[in-house]
Parts: sequence; structure tokens; C-alpha cells
Amino acid sequence: MTQPGKVFLIGAGPGAPDLMTLRALHMLEAADVVVYDRLVSADIIAFAPSDAKMVPVGKSPQCHPVTQDRINAILLDEARAGRIVARLKGGDPLIFGRGSEEAAYLADHGISTEYAPGITAAQGASCVTGVPLTHRGLATGVQYVTGHRQADTVLDLDWKRLANPDTTLVVYMGVANIGQIAIGLMTEGLSESTPVMAVAQATTPDETRLVSRLDRIAHDIRDAEMSAPVLFIIGRVVSLYAELPVADITANLPPLRAISANA
Ligand code: SAH
Repeated sequence: MTQPGKVFLIGAGPGAPDLMTLRALHMLEAADVVVYDRLVSADIIAFAPSDAKMVPVGKSPQCHPVTQDRINAILLDEARAGRIVARLKGGDPLIFGRGSEEAAYLADHGISTEYAPGITAAQGASCVTGVPLTHRGLATGVQYVTGHRQADTVLDLDWKRLANPDTTLVVYMGVANIGQIAIGLMTEGLSESTPVMAVAQATTPDETRLVSRLDRIAHDIRDAEMSAPVLFIIGRVVSLYAELPVADITANLPPLRAISANA
């Protein structure tokens, strides 16, 4: 009988290939099969072994070409056939990434998983813009929330807890509902002048940014027509945006040996 393989649940980071961890790269290079999401950039997919079977399972907010049940079944079938499966996800697999759901399903069926953490979009957006997620005197903590809601339901967030001027709020999947989010926060007392930054395609060559404030962000984001994926950082830390400009020095660094050896 074939020995079962295993599944690596890998965070690919926010986009820039050099923001992957070495563990992620190592696991990807060991794969027989690569099952990857829409948010994973082509530069990262290019690190997969040339003979690996490539299985795109991209989901987008409006359209779900491959259901979660189907993805689970693909992972299980490939691992049961004795293969090493790299399940490649954008950002971190355990932050709005369903990594733990896939791991639980596989564990129920006797397949072991291992993780490679990834730099989540919030950290990617933070490091390229220089806007810190915490900063002494401005934010004592940070909260990550999803702005996505199931069809035909209201966005059910704990506005009182989120409307805290002393913490930074990061909203994933928030474009469709940012107006409702801003109203919820202002209703619970967060100042209408609280600065908000939207970053689209953070860390990629197509990155764009918008700095606004809570009472205008819904309007401004409509005008800006930013391309997905978009992340919002809300809070006083955003006031540091212009004060702490970040130079892009990575372009001038010599090529990474680990990456260039494979390329
Ligand atoms: N697991 C991922 C999040 C997946 S949910 C992570 O840890 O980053 C998808 C949401 O992530 C998008 O709607 C967007 O809000 C955010 N996102 C992912 N990559 C991004 C990027 N490069 N720039 C801006 N937002 C991004």
C-alpha cells in the first residue's frame, strides 16, 4: 500500500518574493504538487519545481471557481497518493487563510500537515509604507478584523471594542463594506478625523496607496478605484505616514543566493 504523503501549509507572504520565509521556499522546493491561491504572485509560483503538478484553486470575492470542499478533497487525494503537497496561500495561512480548517480536515483523514508562516498583508503594508502598527504614545496594540460578510447578512463586528483610539485597526477584505465599518466606528465614538490608509497590492510593483480619514474613506475609495487586494489601516499611527518615508533600497541589494540558485 502507498505510504501517505503530507501537506505543507505555506504562507507566501503579501506579494514580493523576497518576503517569503526560507522555510516556505524550502517546503515549496520539496513539493510534488502545488495547490495555490489567487493571491500568490507569479514570481513566487515560479519557485516551484519545474516538474511539480500545478493546481490553481483561486477564489475571488465574487466568484468561487473551486469550493473549499473541493480544495480539501484535492489536498487529501494528492496526499493519499503518497505525494508531497505544497498548499500555497497569500500572506499567512493562519490569518484569514483557512489554513487551520484545511489542517483539521486532513488530520481527520489521517494526513499530517506542517506550516510555514507568512508575512501577513498588514505587516507587508506596514513595512513598505513606514506606518507602524504600534507606536509608543499612538497605539498600544493592534486588532486584525475581516470586513467581509456572508451574502444577505449584516456585518456583525463588535464596534464598541474596535472603536478604541489607542489601538490600530487593520481591516482585511473590507472594500465593499468600508462605509458601514466607518459608520460603526464613528457611532461608537471614534473621531471622524481618525486617519485611514488603504494600500492595494502591497509590496508588489503595482502597489497603490490612499490616505484619507474615517468620515471620507468610503467616498475616497470609490473615486480611487484601487485594484484588489486592498487593506485598510485605521488609527493614529497613519499620521506618521508622511513623517517616516521609506526609501526602496531593496532594488539595489545584490541578488539573494538562495533564490538566484533556483531561478
Ligand atoms: N492570509 C492573508 C489574508 C487573506 S484574506 C494574509 O495573511 O495576508 C484576503 C485579504 O487580505 C484581501 O482582501 C486584503 O484585504 C488582504 N491582502 C492580502 N494581500 C494583500 C496585499 N498584497 N495588499 C493589500 N492587501 C492584501
